[in-house]
Amino acid sequence: MAITHNLGFPRIGAQRELKKALESYWNGQLDEASLLAIGKELRARHWAVQRDAGIALIPAGDFAWYDQMLNMTVLLGAAPERFGFTGLSTLEQYFQLARGNAQQPAMEMTKWFDTNYHYLVPEFLNSTEFNLNSTWLFDEVGEAQALGINAKPVLIGPLTYLYLGKEKHAGLNRLNLLPKLIPVYKQILERLNAQGVEWVQIDEPVLALDLPQEWVAALAHTYASLSQDAPKILLATYFDSVEDHAEALKALPVAGLHIDLVRAPQQADIFIRDFPVDKILSAGIVDGRNIWLNNLPASLSILEELHITLGDRLWVAPSCSLLHVPVDLAQETGLDKTVKSWMAFATQKLEEVVTLAQGVSHGREAIAPQLAKTNAALESRVYSPLRHDREVHQRIAALKPADEKRSTPFAQRIAAQQEQFKLPAFPTTTIGSFPQTAAIRSARAGYKQGKLSEEQYRTAMQAEIHHVVAKQEELGIDVLVHGEAERNDMVEYFGEQLKGFAFTQYGWVQSYGSRCVKPPIIYGDISRPHPMTVEWSCYAQSLTDKPMKGMLTGPITILQWSFVRNDIPRAATALQIALAIRAEVQDLERAGIGIIQIDEAALREGLPIKRQDWAHYLDWAVRAFRISTSGVRDTTQIHTHMCYSEFNDILPAIAAMDADVITIETSRSDMELLEAFRAFHYPNDIGPGVYDIHSPRVPSQEEMQRLMRKACAVIPRERLWVNPDCGLKTRGWPEVEAALRNMVAVAHTLRNIAA
Ligand code: GLN
Ligand code: ZN
Repeated sequence: MAITHNLGFPRIGAQRELKKALESYWNGQLDEASLLAIGKELRARHWAVQRDAGIALIPAGDFAWYDQMLNMTVLLGAAPERFGFTGLSTLEQYFQLARGNAQQPAMEMTKWFDTNYHYLVPEFLNSTEFNLNSTWLFDEVGEAQALGINAKPVLIGPLTYLYLGKEKHAGLNRLNLLPKLIPVYKQILERLNAQGVEWVQIDEPVLALDLPQEWVAALAHTYASLSQDAPKILLATYFDSVEDHAEALKALPVAGLHIDLVRAPQQADIFIRDFPVDKILSAGIVDGRNIWLNNLPASLSILEELHITLGDRLWVAPSCSLLHVPVDLAQETGLDKTVKSWMAFATQKLEEVVTLAQGVSHGREAIAPQLAKTNAALESRVYSPLRHDREVHQRIAALKPADEKRSTPFAQRIAAQQEQFKLPAFPTTTIGSFPQTAAIRSARAGYKQGKLSEEQYRTAMQAEIHHVVAKQEELGIDVLVHGEAERNDMVEYFGEQLKGFAFTQYGWVQSYGSRCVKPPIIYGDISRPHPMTVEWSCYAQSLTDKPMKGMLTGPITILQWSFVRNDIPRAATALQIALAIRAEVQDLERAGIGIIQIDEAALREGLPIKRQDWAHYLDWAVRAFRISTSGVRDTTQIHTHMCYSEFNDILPAIAAMDADVITIETSRSDMELLEAFRAFHYPNDIGPGVYDIHSPRVPSQEEMQRLMRKACAVIPRERLWVNPDCGLKTRGWPEVEAALRNMVAVAHTLRNIAA
């Protein structure tokens, strides 16, 4: 039978056991021995789940206390020198790298490709050396073997490890570290060989990026070197096509290649042509990035074609590690039965892999019951009224070009808005949320659990709104917000009120370390049965004469932080969300809310892996935003907020969004990023964040003033707003008050300085 394998399993546990254990350990409630025991138990359980599903080769080394890249850093003895560890030996030190200590900030964290998983970025100096420094991998492989598990160790490959790291010395080219790195990988592989390991999986996902030529060129000698005295190597790629490197990959002296046929099915034809007779090809055919049931007949068609040429050299697998999907659908008791029948989580995906291997090896009759069940589910999905909403399609068909464009240009709008709001120069505002206190969280939880009546809950939220409005008035802020106390999460809040969304009980996915997210699931056409924010915003506006800013999450951010449909393009879903947000914007305007902010925190992270796909994405993403925002009068002021500091390569798209005001993160980069806005002649208003809300530190007036003066040097002063970097929900009231007081004082000072 075609061999089945898995590339990685979620480590967090079906009930987030790892998260809970880590957090208890960090706050001193759990000792190290107990933590170690919980990790061991989780590994054993996850290996057993995979074995019982019938997976032949099971990953080992995919467990991590915090992150898989950090695990590699530790294995390679490459902990940043600044921590001063002479060799890293303790778990405590491992967590210091991840979380910082009294002297050193944590290693930097960034997104793992286009997923919502974050890895710890390796730091490279001229003096960086690598040494096989830890035995964790060999210990875990031994653990699996002792349990009778056919373990396939998983490593991040040397090119990916270096490419995803960061040079901390000017002039250092991290590719030049490769000769120092290869010997350590060779030692690792030799040791695994000695442990009796037959196959090792080496992940090189960077091959799916637009990898510079010199990096691609390094493949051949790297793998020529690694493949001696080593177990058989399965070189794994995923998240996009590697067809540009097909010939180079086929020529490598490795025993097998894994390619992602979910994201890039066209690769099958290219790889199968003259595929070397001494290699296996692993087909990543079950989607490791989404939660939908596999279309078994369609997958079989692809596999059957490959099988003709490859025979037993065809392996069957998920497209990538299952780290990015929840553990087990069987735990979900609250989902609509029909919608649930369309889904598969990690545990179910393993069964699909095994079923497909049986089907391709023994014929479709061998898996007749599974095919019948899948077909029934797929069919129910095709015709389901849960999925189709005619009215949504009618509204989309009725869209006119004028609906995606404000009726007059910015210069004219801003004059009308100025007439309307009469804001001072350097207007002050905040990004939306105020501290989410324990009282707020318990009121929300109480309401959800039915312990608080709707009336009691409304009273509690209104009291909170009252409090933040009074505070803002006292501080002298110009454009107020209601504080977002009613929101647990900026996507969930909207998803729960929109049609077409489902929510799980345990659908957690690791985001970083112990942090997990539970993305909503978009299963059908999206519509807005009733206004979502109007009541809160109007109540807030009724308490003040200052303008109250309505606060919404944008279509791309809602899309990006949800599991999305795979039966229609992402762009189509984005458009549906855009129409729902547009209706909300119009309702807010009608209710007298004259300033409305639409957050697009995730616009940048939605960028596709390959540059060639950027333009198309930006096109529909910007269109979705514009449709959300263009249904209002000139006098209604649209704000947007984005919390990251890399805009240079997408500035034309940001400008095309045509928000009247954009607030962005700039304080940590010392306003450097504004240079790009200047060079681009960004036309509309900008609020460059003047203080970093990620830290409890209260910035002084001098600091903020210095930043604003830097901003004034590059942006015309009449275009500038004064605001923090992001929402304040994670902060405490005392520091927020002190920081905002300073911020308002800075705006006053600036107003008094002659232009
Ligand atoms: N309005 C949101 C808030 O203030 C924005 C959050 C974000 O950008 N991540 O919390
Ligand atoms: Zn933000």
